[in-house]
Amino acid sequence: MDVHLETFVPLIKKSKGFDELKREVIDQDLCSGCGNCSAFCQHIDLDENSIPYLVGECTLKNGSIKCSIEGTCYDSCPMVEYNFKELEKKIFGKVGEDWIGNYIKIVAAKAKDERILERCQDGGVATALLIAALEQNLVNAATVVTGWDLWKNTVKVTSDINEIIKAAGTKYLRSSTPNAFGRNLKYYKRIAIIGTGCQISGIRKFMEESSMRILLEKTKESDVPVDLYLIGLFCYENFPKKSFEERIKERYDITLSDIKKMDIKRGFVYIWTKSGKEIKEKVAKAFGKIAPSSCKLCKDFTARLSDISLGSVGSKKGYTTVIIRTKKGLSLFEKALENGYLEVNEEINSEEILKTAQSKLKYNKKERERRRSLGLRIVTNWD
Ligand SMILES: Cc1cc2nc3c(=O)[nH]c(=O)nc-3n(C[C@H](O)[C@H](O)[C@H](O)COP(=O)(O)OP(=O)(O)OC[C@H]3O[C@@H](n4cnc5c(N)ncnc54)[C@H](O)[C@@H]3O)c2cc1C
Ligand code: SF4
Ligand code: SF4
Ligand code: SF4
Repeated sequence: MDVHLETFVPLIKKSKGFDELKREVIDQDLCSGCGNCSAFCQHIDLDENSIPYLVGECTLKNGSIKCSIEGTCYDSCPMVEYNFKELEKKIFGKVGEDWIGNYIKIVAAKAKDERILERCQDGGVATALLIAALEQNLVNAATVVTGWDLWKNTVKVTSDINEIIKAAGTKYLRSSTPNAFGRNLKYYKRIAIIGTGCQISGIRKFMEESSMRILLEKTKESDVPVDLYLIGLFCYENFPKKSFEERIKERYDITLSDIKKMDIKRGFVYIWTKSGKEIKEKVAKAFGKIAPSSCKLCKDFTARLSDISLGSVGSKKGYTTVIIRTKKGLSLFEKALENGYLEVNEEINSEEILKTAQSKLKYNKKERERRRSLGLRIVTNWD
């Protein structure tokens, strides 16, 4: 049988790299600023709104044919076209029945440590789980986002308990957590990573669908295999710093440094200023105008690909809603419970979680129509 060279040509096709990522995501105003694409590439950096840009030259431009399956940056982006449900099936063995996704159980819980309760957003479960994972030797580092006072989100990969407690509380500005995780993987191999749905799905995509999978498998034979605990946060939207700063000045005549705490709950935004002012307004009215297109299209409110997801809706004040999804997530939660880091309350309102998750679908529909009329790309990953 004659074998022609052309038979092999498609097998050595050039990877999609940063150029394609820029064209399909960044230039289409679809970048969520998750920080996944820069995690493993020295040629990518992030600006203050967490938007990636090239530093030097993408290796593919030097004639390399492959950089992971597509480019490593492209493979780990949650906003390029991919099938979210296929990925969910790979991880859990099945697609979740509704927008809460797959889970073993859902409970409400709160931290027991007063130092956490003083600073946390809801019940302090996120902080307590990170500390339990470290102290019970499940991981040797955790990611946290610090910097609320300075309004400059700084992501740290740390094993310092005081630093983890200090970082409690939600920062509604973009953080680049996966970037910090990737860049610290050479120092810490067992990490608890906390992030929003797009951050977690980017990491899962990277672990399951890039050449990293092979590398991760290989580390199983080493003394310290890579081992990640993925803790997701419910997320409706997340703001780029510049537009947020302009909006609060225009609407409330306050600056970033005036803000003591902020919360987004059940459709309302609450802002407490250092001078004692309390602002409460419908989130759509306050910030709908500046919510990024990526967040309006995203349907993953409950961070469905995590080991454990945490949020405020679904449980009463002072508690965190905990969706335990995987055996790994369950073992972490049980260790934290048995060793006195947490207390549990079974009172959960699943309807409320589902309702909030579903309300994102309306947002999505409207944004699709807007983008269609402008001829912009639409992300259909979660359909
Ligand atoms: C951008 C964003 C939007 C959210 N929107 C909703 C919502 O609409 N509805 C809802 O029910 N819940 C939402 N949450 C989750 C909620 O605000 C709490 O984070 C969650 O309930 C856990 O509370 P906790 O008291 O257990 O966490 P804490 O013990 O206070 O710890 C919070 C942890 O989150 C980390 N963190 C803070 N900000 C970020 C960030 N931007 N990116 C990554 N990690 C971060 C901190 O480092 C800390 O470790 C949102 C969270 C974020 C980050
Ligand atoms: S990850 Fe690969 S494709 Fe992407 S910018 Fe870096 S070298 Fe280029
Ligand atoms: S990986 Fe995240 S930060 Fe990078 S382009 Fe995609 S959405 Fe933006
Ligand atoms: S709404 Fe979705 S895209 Fe936006 S920050 Fe949250 S998880 Fe990411």
